[in-house]
Amino acid sequence: MKPQIHKYQLKLTKKTMSKRVKTILVCALCALAFACKSNQGYKTHNDELHWSYQGETGPEHWAEFEKDSDCGGKHQSPINIISTDATVDNTLKDLDTHYATNTKIHEVVNNGHSIQYNFEPGDYLNYKGDKYELKQIHFHEASEHTIDGIRYPMVIHMVHVSDNNQFVVLAVMVKEGQNSEPFTFLESYLPLKTGQTKTIDASFDLNKNLPNNKGYYNYIGSLTTPPCTEGVNWFVFKNPITVSLKQVKELQKLMPLNNYRNEQPLNDRVVKQTK
Ligand SMILES: [Zn+2]
Repeated sequence: MKPQIHKYQLKLTKKTMSKRVKTILVCALCALAFACKSNQGYKTHNDELHWSYQGETGPEHWAEFEKDSDCGGKHQSPINIISTDATVDNTLKDLDTHYATNTKIHEVVNNGHSIQYNFEPGDYLNYKGDKYELKQIHFHEASEHTIDGIRYPMVIHMVHVSDNNQFVVLAVMVKEGQNSEPFTFLESYLPLKTGQTKTIDASFDLNKNLPNNKGYYNYIGSLTTPPCTEGVNWFVFKNPITVSLKQVKELQKLMPLNNYRNEQPLNDRVVKQTK
């Protein structure tokens, strides 16, 4: 009996041991996974949450702590567009936008920096032989670009991306005035808490969100949020659209106060404009 007990105990010990080893291994793996995850999390955190519009993580510091970004580059956005300095280019044509009436907005996201509407494929624009698909629209209050020093209460950024990852962003200035029907639709899915996403899955005609006069300023700049990627082709419409004060306020209260980046130096760049 004795040896049997011993055997049994040994077996048990072995079992316990292997269980322990297993536990340790699992823990080690967990720790590793957690470390990797938190490392990744940190990166994500850094990319999407760490930067802000105020204080130590505000725009003036993006270049310091967003190490791999272009935020300290020489061709950044936004800029103040000086209309008399912008070169009139007769070769600039109306933007070749293809916004269908039945393109669907997939969802709306409050990402903590802005309210963003993600679109399903369908809307695009052609520019110099390349197709740029509309991915999302989002808002800044007040506007990021200024025109002759004028900062509008709000701007809509319409972000288009080509197959080879080139950006075309359209900026539609918003001024306070008449109620906007498309805004009523967009805002019917609000409010949203920070980090919250709501499925929309309904058609939206982007044409209704554009000014009647489609004259624009054009220059090469950057994304206005980290990683501030350069090489972005900006088209800033000269004329604003009108949205009611109530509608502006609705979006304003959901976004960080003053979620705009300040004017960046033009440096050696040229701003062109339609006549
Ligand atoms: Zn933007």
